[in-house]
Amino acid sequence: MLATIPSATLLGAEGRPVMVEVHVAHGLPCFTIVGLPDEACRESRDRVRAAVLSSGLTWPSHRITVNLAPSSMRKGGAGLDLAIAVGVLVASDQVPVDAVAGLGFFGELGLDGSVRRVPGIVPLAAAVTTPGLVVPAAAAPEAALVAVGRVQAAEHLAAVVAALRGEGEWPGWSAPPPTPPPVGPDLADVRGHPVARLALALAAAGGHHLLLVGPPGSGKTMLAQRLPGLLPPLDADVALTTTMIHSAAGVALPPGGLVTVAPLRAPHHTASLVAMVGGGTSAMRPGEISMAHGGVLFLDEMGEFPVTVLDGLRQPLEEGRVRVTRAKAAVEFPARFVLIGAMNPCPCGEGGAPGACACPDAARARYVRRLSGPLLDRFDLRVAVSRPAVHDLMGGLAGESTAVVAERVAAARRRALRRGVALNSALGPEQLDALAPLSPAASQLLTRELERGRLTGRGLHRVRRVARTIGDLDDGGDVVEESWVAGALHLRVDLLALTRQAA
Ligand SMILES: [Zn+2]
Repeated sequence: MLATIPSATLLGAEGRPVMVEVHVAHGLPCFTIVGLPDEACRESRDRVRAAVLSSGLTWPSHRITVNLAPSSMRKGGAGLDLAIAVGVLVASDQVPVDAVAGLGFFGELGLDGSVRRVPGIVPLAAAVTTPGLVVPAAAAPEAALVAVGRVQAAEHLAAVVAALRGEGEWPGWSAPPPTPPPVGPDLADVRGHPVARLALALAAAGGHHLLLVGPPGSGKTMLAQRLPGLLPPLDADVALTTTMIHSAAGVALPPGGLVTVAPLRAPHHTASLVAMVGGGTSAMRPGEISMAHGGVLFLDEMGEFPVTVLDGLRQPLEEGRVRVTRAKAAVEFPARFVLIGAMNPCPCGEGGAPGACACPDAARARYVRRLSGPLLDRFDLRVAVSRPAVHDLMGGLAGESTAVVAERVAAARRRALRRGVALNSALGPEQLDALAPLSPAASQLLTRELERGRLTGRGLHRVRRVARTIGDLDDGGDVVEESWVAGALHLRVDLLALTRQAA
């Protein structure tokens, strides 16, 4: 007899529907899974058999063939276990075929018959349109984000079978009560650093990437950690996309299931290219840059990252998505984030402090060149950060709080939105003249910079975008003023010059 059970598999951060076809026929007892299962999926055979027997059910001593359709698509992981088990039970007449009509099944089976959660339950549930979905109980609230009113919880295979036979109830479950999002570190804790604080607000308001350059202990990490708090809550679309990515990556989701707060990802410089951009040999998993979607990617000690990893960032920074191609599949992941890089001015870290740096000139130049020109070019804001002065630390006034600055950021974003622009950092050169026209004085200032060779054509656009955001943050008018341009120029330190100061 044949049974067909809907389920899904994960490809990247998206679920793909899979039909689990189980055929039980007379013949020598054997159990075969076909249809491009990966290793974990092939091992389903052992888990499913043990789980069926542990649940007090009968394992048919017949010829069992499982086909995972469509057979051209690779299936990964253990998430099809429950669907395979239910298929075997239906095909061997232990569960009535009518009982599973309109139900999709997801989950890994333990040898004892327990139903375990698998990564990606949100995208998996989104991929299957059956009127009902049976998912691991622990993941029911997450599945319900995309399948409102259609989710049944499964804790154990025996209980699932009892519910399907009408001999038991589906276990109840409820979404945990909404909890306020966790509060990140506050900007008020940061003493001094007026320029870097302004740069953070600009990065949040305009989506500008920010590079902080300074010696160890100057507070670069402290500053970077405060950027997510300045970003507005994720809008509904981005929240769901980010939730899908986090779900697929196996990152713990917040209590309500939905990621609503801008995430902060801070991978270490030893992270591999795959860990950064996504991929992997069997399952195509999203990388750090996708987990930062809608939020902030913080690369501390940026000069220590391998060149291959830094190069791998260029295309996603340009397009807001990353394409990962492997022998078996090609996948696209969303990856739109604000990048904060932090680096020492030179290998020894003391580059900015005259007389303190012991690095040879060549070593300093090589260190800066690691951030290839094109990547360095992506940073609209490049700020030198020095160790705060003693009087700032001891007697300085507390700076503005995150809440106050976040309100100003939100107002600046609303101003840009009224011009039809989501983020000023995305303004194309052709839009700048229309949406960020220059005052005569601002135009003259930029002309002088270009004539003196202190600004390239591309740099010019970046300065104009930042100037537009400075104006928005300042509640300014539609015409870009000279002082905003001057401010934007001030927020673009020349890295090589910075390292040369020590020489
Ligand atoms: Zn040095």
